[in-house]
Amino acid sequence: MNEYDAMKMADVMCHHKDMEVTSEESKADVFLLNTCSIREKPQEKVFHQLGRWKAYKDKNPQIVIGVGGCVASQEGSAIIKRAPYVDMVFGPQTLHRLPSMYDQVISTKNPIVDISFPKVEKFNHLPKAKNINASAFVSIMEGCSKFCTFCVVPYTRGLEVSRPPEQILDEIKDLAGKGVREINLLGQNVNAYRVKDANGKRLKLSDLIERVTEIEGIDRIRFTTSHPLQFTDDLIAAYNHPKLANYLHLPIQSGSNRILKLMHRKHNVQLYIDRISKLRALRPNISIASDFIVGFPGETEEDFQETLNIIDEVGFDQSFSFIYSPRPQTPAALMDDAVSYQEKLERLNRLQSMIKENTLKISKEMIGTDQTILVEKLSKKMNKQISGRTENNRWVNFDGPISLIGKFIKLRITEALSNSLRARIIN
Ligand code: SAH
Ligand code: SF4
Repeated sequence: MNEYDAMKMADVMCHHKDMEVTSEESKADVFLLNTCSIREKPQEKVFHQLGRWKAYKDKNPQIVIGVGGCVASQEGSAIIKRAPYVDMVFGPQTLHRLPSMYDQVISTKNPIVDISFPKVEKFNHLPKAKNINASAFVSIMEGCSKFCTFCVVPYTRGLEVSRPPEQILDEIKDLAGKGVREINLLGQNVNAYRVKDANGKRLKLSDLIERVTEIEGIDRIRFTTSHPLQFTDDLIAAYNHPKLANYLHLPIQSGSNRILKLMHRKHNVQLYIDRISKLRALRPNISIASDFIVGFPGETEEDFQETLNIIDEVGFDQSFSFIYSPRPQTPAALMDDAVSYQEKLERLNRLQSMIKENTLKISKEMIGTDQTILVEKLSKKMNKQISGRTENNRWVNFDGPISLIGKFIKLRITEALSNSLRARIIN
């Protein structure tokens, strides 16, 4: 989501202010920092980065510095108090106002803070995408109304708001016309998507996916991220469509019903397993990824063991796992937490090595199989090679001409490394 937001910040400034994106700090007139407050660590990095940029502004006072994202949304004017050289503070829902904020800063020389939550106004003001790749994110909903006890998202991004389908489909058609072949429908909980179309018909995520499958040029569809509670039968049935990638990211957070309850996740382990079983009846080889929080307040060794049990039972692939981080305003931050950080770290290592083992096992099973991949770019390490992703989200590097970038091709997998695969073109 932050990657998408950052691209939109670049798009609005390029479109309205005739600017260009540069990765060379010494050439920049405007510095924009997008921030994340999901855990404490990324938040700490914000002021460190701002301190580095201050050195540029000390040399050239004309430079404008902006801070956006969820830390900005959470801290507001406190950012300017602590870093008075910052000129603009904006939230995830006000990034489209950047050009007018910029004009105001230039004319008044005063800093400006706008972290309000105007309902979907943003999407009516975003220009057509400029900086694009063969695979693109498209935001379909924003915010979250679930209020899990550990999570800051409902406070920083606001409540769930769904974008009108016509607007989403127009954006995807425009991207398809520019060569995009894969779409990743984006939101904090995309399966909470609920909206009426222009004819008054109620749509859910499954209906939206069906409409996206009809768009010519778009041959692979993904969605990120979903909540188990709304991973309903209609969405499972959407997997009958071959354009929907054989991959699902469905966070469970913990394998202990006691902890899930304390987290206010509104479902138990059985519901999760039942839904995965239904999906696997339709797509036996589907790759399932998840998110885990280790060391939630009061998590015992038994609770943690239950998380390891579910990892074993489901056979998760490529998951994200974090040590619980107390967040401001959230109920969990006030809960008693007797487990030491050392113990939590040890649990995290055990969990991560189990997942890593499984990821490698799945990768090794792919050796000798044929996979359809979307070629996205030149390989990072070996300039002569090109790279793309398999349906189950693995990067594959292989020899081939750059003219293949933007196309789907068939490869035979030849080698499995810890973070990527190697392959050769079949014909
Ligand atoms: N809406 C998604 C998750 C979005 S947040 C869902 O409900 O599954 C992305 C991930 O960040 C979460 O799945 C969780 O694993 C992690 N996360 C969120 N808050 C956290 C916290 N306070 N400490 C550690 N990890 C956290
Ligand atoms: Fe956060 Fe996801 Fe829970 Fe919403 S559903 S509060 S985004 S963890």
